[in-house]
Amino acid sequence: MGIAEDWKELMFSLDCLSKGSAKRKFRKSIKNGWGGLCAYCRSNRATTLDHIKPKSRGGSSLRSNLIPCCQACNHSKGSENWLEWFQRQEFYNSVAEELIEEWISNKRFIDEELDEERTDDRTEVCLTASTI
Ligand SMILES: [Zn+2]
Repeated sequence: MGIAEDWKELMFSLDCLSKGSAKRKFRKSIKNGWGGLCAYCRSNRATTLDHIKPKSRGGSSLRSNLIPCCQACNHSKGSENWLEWFQRQEFYNSVAEELIEEWISNKRFIDEELDEERTDDRTEVCLTASTI
């Protein structure tokens, strides 16, 4: 195996490792992903995690369905459809909407959480991630 392959291998492992540790810090990493601020209003500190699709409507507790949220937004949103609710707020903006949509469609986090022991899945996750 040449140096180039070793290097590739190493970077690949590091990439997987960093995802693994992010997973261990699950809740924390979600909040850090949004700079510690509420993903909706972005002016209050996120002190809660909101189910984007409410649990009462079949929403999951996977990372892609959880978003850092301040108490006020969480309370105000309740079990409404997030987008309908969000578009009515005075802090609504389309960039934030896009970011949240992106977060929701981030399927690789779902893969990680479903079965963290299966290395073949993780390989797939890493390969998928590199094509994004
Ligand atoms: Zn808020």
